[in-house]
Amino acid sequence: MTSLRKTAALSLCLALLAAPAMAQDENQVLADSMDFAMHDALYTMYHEVGHMLVGELGLPVLGKEEDAADSLATIWLLTDESDDDSWNALIDAADGWYFNAVQSTGSGVEDFSYYDDHSLDIQRAYAMVCMMVGAHPDVFGETADNYDIDADQQEACADTFNQALTSWEQLLEPHLVDGEPGAEIEVVYEDAG
Ligand SMILES: [Zn+2]
Repeated sequence: MTSLRKTAALSLCLALLAAPAMAQDENQVLADSMDFAMHDALYTMYHEVGHMLVGELGLPVLGKEEDAADSLATIWLLTDESDDDSWNALIDAADGWYFNAVQSTGSGVEDFSYYDDHSLDIQRAYAMVCMMVGAHPDVFGETADNYDIDADQQEACADTFNQALTSWEQLLEPHLVDGEPGAEIEVVYEDAG
């Protein structure tokens, strides 16, 4: 995938520059960290656009809106043919929730989050991976295996993905513009300090 190719290219450049081994390692860690953070940010942006659509278009939501926004973000990244890095973004975003959950308590289950609007971080990770393997079992089977999702459940995830996809498609279909450019959304980056 693109990230891996980029990583390989970067390693080669660094090797050609004959940088000290320590600097190479540090640069690689920095580049990987930046990729990870940007992938998480991309997922979060799509998730927030999901909230925006629900609010602005008055869409009905059955269940938690947070889960619906997660579903939409995952669907967009799974189906975005213009971005060949979007599947890497999905894996990183799922891993992000997983690491968050494990780091918060060590067990993966946060003690104080049962009443939160959001599902538990660990559930968000597994819900994402389920949708991913449901959509593309050949691509994300290994990821699902790493998450210890068994074969039967991986197969059942196809229904989970298709239900989310058709539900969102039905809700958004009346609002799609055909052939016309859509509304512009300005993205502003601020200094993170
Ligand atoms: Zn949200």
